[in-house]
Formats: sequence, structure tokens, C-alpha cells
Amino acid sequence: MNAIRVKRLSEVDVADRRVFIRADLNVPQDDAGRITDDTRIRASLPGIRDVLGRGGKLMVTSHLGRPKEDQFSEADSLAPVAVRLSELLERPVELVRDWVGGGPWHDHLKAGQLALLENCRFNKGEKSDDEALARRMAKLLDVYCNDAFGTAHRAEATTHALARVAPIACAGPLLAAELDALTRALSAPRRPLVAIVAGSKVSTKLTILRTLAARVDTLIVGGGIANTFILASGGRIGKSLAEPDLAGEAKAILDRYPGKVPVPVDAVCAKTFAADAKPEVKAIASVADDDLILDIGPRTVAILQGLLAKAGTIVWNGPVGVFEFDAFGSGTRAIAEAIAASPAFSIAGGGDTLAAIAKYGVADRMGYISTGGGAFLEFLEGRPLPAVTALEARAGG
Ligand code: ADP
Ligand code: MG
Repeated sequence: MNAIRVKRLSEVDVADRRVFIRADLNVPQDDAGRITDDTRIRASLPGIRDVLGRGGKLMVTSHLGRPKEDQFSEADSLAPVAVRLSELLERPVELVRDWVGGGPWHDHLKAGQLALLENCRFNKGEKSDDEALARRMAKLLDVYCNDAFGTAHRAEATTHALARVAPIACAGPLLAAELDALTRALSAPRRPLVAIVAGSKVSTKLTILRTLAARVDTLIVGGGIANTFILASGGRIGKSLAEPDLAGEAKAILDRYPGKVPVPVDAVCAKTFAADAKPEVKAIASVADDDLILDIGPRTVAILQGLLAKAGTIVWNGPVGVFEFDAFGSGTRAIAEAIAASPAFSIAGGGDTLAAIAKYGVADRMGYISTGGGAFLEFLEGRPLPAVTALEARAGG
């Protein structure tokens, strides 16, 4: 994984220029269309404020939901986003419906003003990364800025094709911060580099396990993933969640990297998968045939705490137990606190991982929390992110 070099919005002169920001304003909404969490809108404000403050003529767009292409639908309209954005910016925000071909709204856009352009996935050719669509959009702008890390793993017209054909293409502050943090953690990490890959299934994270095993000094496994590794090393897991057909893959990783992957030595077990099930700490050798492993045990926690305290860099994805049930959350809580207390630079990401970080109140002690679920995981897999690759290709121009 090489260092990532992209042009940054902060390096681009935007005064009096037409600037187009592809943001990620894909917020969750309730059935009535009300925004239930505006984190993504607030996260996009620094880039928007920067351009407005420097006198740019600003256009902002985003996807929202999964609308049918070439067809407007009220349910997927950015209208609620326009309202929230206008409250946060304390200024009116115009929402433009059919914007690809320009029009009076575009002719009249003034320096320091902003127009929100409707859901870019309404446009035919957006999802298929259509170059003709991108060329039409490029006519609207002088500067293209991608600030949507959450969709960086998708090649679509506003994330990829437009980056290739726009006069200038750069990364916004949110995207740049993600790339800086990920590069710091994986391209030139302070050692030892310790990764925690946990959660429910090996199958969804097999590529990540393989990629990270080659790169890190220690690969900590937890959750259902650890159960498959326990099986692979000849241990007992009773009727725990595991993927026996992937035990061979797990064994291959263990054999190829001796000593790198500490397999749990004890566990917190229960007889049923329930919040009120009775937790029992057991050595792996004592796990009974009718036991479910729902968390890592205290001896395992102590070993992992030692490794995390000495780490230079920590990458964390996946809770190590069923932390949704308090009786089986001690392992995940201890890992979260050990990462928070460690002098290491830490980076965490993943839907349930973020929920665990919030639950245990350690968010402000993580080095960086990734906003992009799928994009974060694909980065860990070592896959190039198309939106970033397109910006890299334009870094010189
Ligand atoms: P993320 O969303 O952070 O990438 P995952 O979705 O891979 O994480 O995994 C999170 C889920 O894994 C949680 O719902 C948690 O309850 C479950 N899990 C963790 N450990 C176990 C276990 N031992 N048995 C069953 N489920 C587990
Ligand atoms: Mg998840």
C-alpha cells in the first residue's frame, strides 16, 4: 500500500470559481422523511464553509437512498437535507431539480453562494459511471471536489468519471482526513502494528484477514471469527457461531504466520443466545458441547491488553463478543478501553464497531474513527478505492 497523493481543496484557488462538491449527505430518515441523524450533513460543513468563505460559486450534490435512475421520487429527494443544511449554515439553500444541463440557477450563481443539486442518483448514467454524463456535468464547473469517503469504493459518475474529466479535481477536507488517517495507519505505521478483526463471520472478512495478516505484526481475532480460528487450531467451541468450512482458510493463516495470530485461551459461555443467559467463564479446553462462546474470557483479555499497550498503531474492526448483551460485553469494553489508553495511533471503523465505541464512551480517545463503512473495509482489504484512484491520477494537474 503506497502513500496516497491527491490535490486538496485547501490548495485550490476557488475565489469566483464554480466549485462542485460531491458530498455524502446520505442521512437516515424515518418513515415521515424526517432526518434521524444529521452527522453526515454536519461532517460536510467544513468543505462547504471553506468554499463559501473564500468566495467560490458553490454547487453541492450527494446521493440519498437508492432511487430509480432517470426518475424523480419525492421519497429520495434531498429536500429535507436542504432544510437542515440551511439551518446549519443560517442561510437559505436553493434545491435545484434538473441540474445537469445548467440553466438560470447556474447563470445567476454568485460568489459566496450555494446551490444544492438534487440527488445525483436521479441522473441516468450516475450508477454506471457514464462518461458522457460526466462531461455534461463538467461544463458546469471549474473545480471538482470529492468529499464523500463513504462512496469512495464505488465508481459512479459523480465519484469517478467526473474526477477524470473535470478541469481541476481535488479532495475535500473530510476525504483528505480519512486518507491521511488510513495512510498513517497502514502505509507507514509506527510499529508494532496491531489489527483487531472481529465480529460475526470470517466469510465477510476473509480478504481483510489475509491482507492484514501479511502486513501487521499481530492480528487479533475475536467474535465468531475467533471461533473459527479456535476450531482451526484444534480447540473446542461447542455450538458457537463459526464457519467450519472456513477453518481450513483460518488454519492456512495460522500456519503461514506463526505467532502472529493469538487465538483466545478462554471464553465467556452461555447455554442460550439471550441477554439474560447465565455467563460462565471457561478455558477453551473446557467448553462443553452445548456451550455458546459469546465473549472472550479474562485471561485472553489480559493477553490482548498487554499487546495493545505496547502497540505503535492499532486498527480496529469488529466487536470481540455479543456486546449488545451487557453480560457478554466485558471483552469488547476492555478492548475499547485498552485502545483508548494505549499511546498507539488508533483507527477504528465498521457499523457495529462504531456502536460499541459509542456505548463504551471512548470516541474522543480513538486516534481516528472512519465514517465510511464499506469504503473503510475495502481499504483494509487492500483494494484501491476508485474515487481516490481517479483523484490521484489528477494530482499533478
Ligand atoms: P462491524 O459492523 O463493526 O464490521 P460485524 O458486523 O462484523 O462488525 O460484527 C458485529 C456483530 O458480531 C455484533 O452484532 C456481535 O453481536 C456479533 N458477535 C460478536 N461476537 C460474537 C459471538 N461470539 N457470537 C455471535 N455473534 C457475535
Ligand atoms: Mg456490522
